[in-house]
Amino acid sequence: MSVDAECAVLLRMPTLRPDDHLQLRIVGTGTQDFRYDQRTGEWTATLDPAAHPDGVEVVVVLDGDPQLDGPLHLSTAELAAPACRIDGRVHFARHQDVLVGESHVARHFFPGDPESTRRYDVIVVGSGAGGGTLAYQLAETPWRGGRPPRVLLLEAGSYLFGTHTGNLARYQPVGPDVYPNIFHHWGAFGRRRWRAADAESAKARIAQGLNLGGRTLFWGASAPRMHRWEFRDWPETVRDELYDVWYDRAEQLTRVTPLVPSSYQTMVKAKLRELPALAEFRHFDPPMAIEYCGPVPGAVPAGIWSAAELLLSRAMQDGRFGNLRVHLNHEVVGVERAAGEVTGVVTYDHLAGRDRTYRLADDGVVVLAAGTVGTAAVAQSSGLAEDIPLVGRGITDHPIHVVKFWMRQGGDWYSRFDSSKTVSRHLTDAADTDPAHPYSVTLDLGANLNQFRFVNALEFTGANLATVDGKMPGELVFMVEAPLVEQNAVTLTETRPVGGKPAALPTIRIHPSPRAHQVQDALDTITADVVSAFGGEVYEQLWAPLGGVSHEVGTMRMGRDTPGRERPGVVDEDLRVAGHRNLYVCDLSVFPNSPAANPTLTLAALAMRLAAHLSTGRLTAPGAC
Ligand SMILES: Cc1cc2nc3c(=O)[nH]c(=O)nc-3n(C[C@H](O)[C@H](O)[C@H](O)COP(=O)(O)OP(=O)(O)OC[C@H]3O[C@@H](n4cnc5c(N)ncnc54)[C@H](O)[C@@H]3O)c2cc1C
Repeated sequence: MSVDAECAVLLRMPTLRPDDHLQLRIVGTGTQDFRYDQRTGEWTATLDPAAHPDGVEVVVVLDGDPQLDGPLHLSTAELAAPACRIDGRVHFARHQDVLVGESHVARHFFPGDPESTRRYDVIVVGSGAGGGTLAYQLAETPWRGGRPPRVLLLEAGSYLFGTHTGNLARYQPVGPDVYPNIFHHWGAFGRRRWRAADAESAKARIAQGLNLGGRTLFWGASAPRMHRWEFRDWPETVRDELYDVWYDRAEQLTRVTPLVPSSYQTMVKAKLRELPALAEFRHFDPPMAIEYCGPVPGAVPAGIWSAAELLLSRAMQDGRFGNLRVHLNHEVVGVERAAGEVTGVVTYDHLAGRDRTYRLADDGVVVLAAGTVGTAAVAQSSGLAEDIPLVGRGITDHPIHVVKFWMRQGGDWYSRFDSSKTVSRHLTDAADTDPAHPYSVTLDLGANLNQFRFVNALEFTGANLATVDGKMPGELVFMVEAPLVEQNAVTLTETRPVGGKPAALPTIRIHPSPRAHQVQDALDTITADVVSAFGGEVYEQLWAPLGGVSHEVGTMRMGRDTPGRERPGVVDEDLRVAGHRNLYVCDLSVFPNSPAANPTLTLAALAMRLAAHLSTGRLTAPGAC
């Protein structure tokens, strides 16, 4: 059989990524890899028709998971053609567009009223750290004039009972590959709905948690404040208001609890103070958004804060149709706008399988909070980039360097039962100046409930828990602050089907910040000092993939108009979109840099500040724009 007579099996599936491992399993015969063609966006495998005179049964396999549809039969006639398309005949659980579910709990607490012609004071798009916090806070606060606000929260994802109740503060596996904490399932759950602009960008791990609460369901709960120098590119007013009021309130809301340090942890901090490489650093117990069973060393974590929990508690107080309505499974595809004014929001209702438009009351506002990629996509499909060229530009994730090491039994710091988590920051970095050491240093020793370490013990053993004995794991994580990388961008170049119709599929160009190279020597010096002080042996060092823990920012950056220090932006210091009276953004996309500090506490503080401003009418008063 000549090569010409082969049949090319072609698959086009926009939700796949170029680095996915896609295979064609020929039932009863063998398996071959699909090849991805970046130019056409198609996956190709080849079949020899002569080997299958009666047709053939095939299964497409993605990263080891067979397609949900069961084997496909390719007929003799299909194989006789030069190419056989299998688009639309292949589906994978983790690559479904949006996981649509309508559990009893969802119906009870978030029934929505999609048919209503009600008009809203605020429509919030997305229920994650930014949007979920904002909607909750708005619903808690009297609206202008004292009446309750009419708030609509539109969320693309669902309330998935198993996912939302599975967020326990436990790390031990309960079965092969089954963890009670859904953090471990992030890799499989996080939706990847974008195409990489080039090979470098394809290495990124940007993903969305399309569900009520967004990615706060999967987060690690580290909730530090940003240091003053990390606000260099921010409006001073925002920084000062966060320090004066909103950080305190956000810490209360997200239940940031100071961990009572164990004696082991206290000894670790004392040791760090002796190290020459960290002589000018301050070492502290990390602030975590976790509730503990009692304020004592060794207390067991009882739960992690999430925006879904916040909204559920509101729904429980509020009854079925309170002043906050949550419409799940409503994917926003654009905003309706005219002459600098937004009038409504266009959605696709995945449950009903139809479009719906929701409208604003007089003086109503829309807040986009669909995440750094999601908001950039909605903004661009609404035509905002034509008016504001910075929309979508500069998506940046800070470089994260990870060093993993062992401490062996018999060493001074080995302990089977103790653990410690500390954060170190450079002392002089507290000023509003260019940083000498633009990074944070987190040191984790041991794997223990008390420290809320999400360590997967299997990762360390490669086999089973028993072999952890004799080795105590250690990890150093450096998070490096990064200015926005201007060449990076989210653009809309392709479409994907939403309810059978084409909707925008983002293409992302994301390259690492040069900051990684600039600090490498300093990080190596600290690593050598710390690892040797604790008697460790390094077994792995890596720069984490960009987007791996969802810290990417910048596509709707906040500008600054301080005289002499102006910076152009998409939103102003009030998070209002330039040239628009009633359109705001409240998610990580507004950050004008990627701080060293984990970003969620700062975002929650921004959301609470925006809720207060909107409720008092400070921002939409006539002439305020
Ligand atoms: C594994 C992991 C660990 C992490 N650990 C930490 C940590 O320790 N500390 C920390 O500070 N941060 C951490 N993070 C990051 C943190 O979760 C995110 O920074 C934060 O959730 C971002 O908030 P957001 O509001 O911008 O986006 P999200 O929380 O993702 O919210 C966006 C919401 O918009 C919805 N949406 C998207 N598109 C649409 C649309 N078109 N229509 C309607 N709705 C839409 C999504 O479903 C989602 O609910 C972690 C994240 C992960 C994944």
